Order: sequence, then C-alpha cells, then structure tokens
Amino acid sequence: MSIKKILVINCGSSSVKFSLFDSQKNQLAAGLAEKLGDADAVLSWRIQGGDKNTLSLHSAQHRGAITAITKALGDAGLFDGGIAAIGHRVVHGGEFFSASVVIDAAVMKNIASCSHLAPLHNPANIVGIELLAEQFPQLPQVAVFDTAFHQSLPDYAYTYGLPYQYYKEFGLRRYGFHGTSHRYVSQQAAQRLHKAYTDSSIISAHLGNGCSATAILNGKSIDTTMGLTPLEGLLMGTRSGDIDPSIHQFLADQLHCDLSDITAILNNNSGLFGISGLSNDMRTLCEAAATGNTRAQLAIAVFCYRLAKAIAALAVPLGKIDALVFTGGIGENAATVREQTIKQLSILNMTLDTQKNARTVGGEQGIITTDNSTVAMVIATQEEWVIAQDTLALLDTLS
Ligand code: ADP
Repeated sequence: MSIKKILVINCGSSSVKFSLFDSQKNQLAAGLAEKLGDADAVLSWRIQGGDKNTLSLHSAQHRGAITAITKALGDAGLFDGGIAAIGHRVVHGGEFFSASVVIDAAVMKNIASCSHLAPLHNPANIVGIELLAEQFPQLPQVAVFDTAFHQSLPDYAYTYGLPYQYYKEFGLRRYGFHGTSHRYVSQQAAQRLHKAYTDSSIISAHLGNGCSATAILNGKSIDTTMGLTPLEGLLMGTRSGDIDPSIHQFLADQLHCDLSDITAILNNNSGLFGISGLSNDMRTLCEAAATGNTRAQLAIAVFCYRLAKAIAALAVPLGKIDALVFTGGIGENAATVREQTIKQLSILNMTLDTQKNARTVGGEQGIITTDNSTVAMVIATQEEWVIAQDTLALLDTLS
C-alpha cells in the first residue's frame, strides 16, 4: 500500500491549527497561526518535531494564515510527491451530518446554513475550505464535525424545556461538541479493556480549555454536557458552563449593558479565570493553589465538584460504567483535578489509586483506580489524527 499524506486544518475563530500526517501516523509537520487579525498575528510550526519556526503574519486573517502555512510546508519540501487529501475540523454540522463527509457543493451549503449556530467558527471553516480548494483544486477535502458524534442523542436528551416551535424554526436544541475526541478516547478505552466497542458503557471527560463530558453506550453518544453552543455544561477555562438563565437579565440590569456583553462575559471572563481572578490555565491555578491561593483553590474546587456531579448524572442513562476516561490537557496532566473529582464519586464505586494517578501525567496513559474500583483511566486524545484517519477512510471510498 502506498503511503499517502493528509493535511489537517482546524480553523478556529482567531487561529488556524494544522498538521501534516502520512498514512502510517507519522506527523510530518504541525503548527499554529494565532492572534489572527491582530498586529502580532504569528505562525509557528515544527517539521517532524524539530526546532520551532516562527513567522510574523502582520494582522493576517485566515486566508493569509493558510497561505503562509502551505508556503512553509511547500518550502520544506513536504508537498514533494503530492498530498492525497485535506481534512477539516468543522465545528457545527447541525442535524445535517452524523459522520464525516467528502466536501462538495451540497455539503458546503449545509455547513453555511449552520453558521448561525456557530457564528465564530463555521464561517472560518468555510474560508479555509474555499481557499484550499483554490490552491489544490484537484484534491478531495473532507469535513469532520465536532457535533456529528452526538447526533445519536435521543430526543429527550437534546430537547430544551422551551416552546417546541423554536426547535423546528431555529434548530434550537442541544448538539454537543468535542465529538471527535469523545469518539476516539471511548474507542481506545474499550480496546484497552478488551471490550467490544459495540458492547461498552463509557463516560469520557474532555478537559482542555473547553470542557465537556459524554455518556457513550455501545459506541454511540447518548448524552453530553455541551448544548446549543459550547457554553453549556461544565465549568471551563473562561466559560461559565451552566448557570441560572436569569443571570443574563440580572447582570445586564446591574452592569447597564446589553445581552451580547453578558454573553461575552460568560464566554471570556468566567469559569476558572472568573472565579480565581488569576488565570484560565489549570497549571497556573494548581501551582497557586499549592502555595495557598484561596481563590485558585476555590476555582479548582468548583471545577471538580461540578465535573463529579456531571459524571454521576451521565451514569444515569448508561446504567453501568465500564470506564471513566480523562483526556485533554487537564484530563491528561492535572493529577490533582482527577483526584479531587474521583474522591467525590464513591456513589459510582470509584476509588483512586493515588500512586498510579500521580504517575499518569505528561503522556502516560492507563488505569488510575484501584483493582476493585469502577475503572477510571487516562487516554491522550488525538483529534488531528482522527481527522486524518477519517479523511483517509473516505478517500478509499472515492477510489
Ligand atoms: P485546548 O482545548 O486548547 O486544546 P488543551 O487540551 O491543550 O487545550 O488543554 C489546555 C489546559 O490543559 C490548560 O488549562 C492547561 O493549563 C492544562 N494543562 C496542561 N498541562 C497541565 C499540567 N501539567 N497540569 C495542569 N494543567 C495542565
């Protein structure tokens, strides 16, 4: 079988992440263009894990960033021999997409029609797809959606207690996000437990800057903590997660500002950052908490308490738990967060092995509970590789 190269593009609201993989899972290059639109917009990348290269992008937007990325990869000789396809992370697929798809005009129309559900992300995803279609008109492009894995939620899990016509008219329902990560780590967990994925009950907690947890029964997502947008659910780096919906009006009155200002506060100034007043970065908070910073301690305590409650709630539709999986930057590295969370989960028969937990950091994976406990484990997520894999699989269907 010939080795194929796949370019993976992840256009965020003000960033573009990219990776170039070959079909044997070697990461040939990876990088990030960030602060797009700002004077200090910058592209940084590494070729095969080597030294970091940086390039000022001078206020470039997504188009300028992607052009700089393809030039950097081309200049490094990484396009020699050609690439086979491009895989895109697309944030919102609405109810159109329950799996990854090869992009054509009809797919583009549907991605565009979901833009009102993810106004900062889907338009950026579209710019990336269109520009790469101009640069590589002969290459197939694939869309991998954050929402797709959660399309299996039953209606009673995705329906809000709101007038039903808003669902019909505006698509107002719970969608869920981080689907690529939840799918990957739950598959990995089943494999590690020597269980068939189609006969498994798993809760995955993806804890990065954004955080969500999902109940996965027999390989299908049946409930998840994020909703219409990634603001719902767990406490996150700068996002509030669940709050009393009346807080919008309450704060607008107190602060004499409009609802969009409150939405910005809930997205950008809340969560770990809002409570601690120090940082949205869990590493910084763990360090501060260890030296007695009480606000950092409180932020971590709220984070873990709410996470534990959400995990217990997700056990309800599963009935039994084969494994709880921690992933994402916090899930993979913050042993103290896992400890504080699992200590509150005796209701699920979960007991931490403190030594295993302490050493399962920095890329280590595996079980962190005692032998007679319900299993909790750490698995490193690999969202970009999953996008490359989906792209390769769809490529095979084209040939
Ligand atoms: P993103 O959602 O942007 O992909 P990541 O999955 O990389 O983010 O997660 C970022 C979070 O992981 C940050 O809060 C960061 O502080 C946290 N993190 C990374 N390493 C550690 C660590 N060693 N200890 C505690 N938190 C960590």
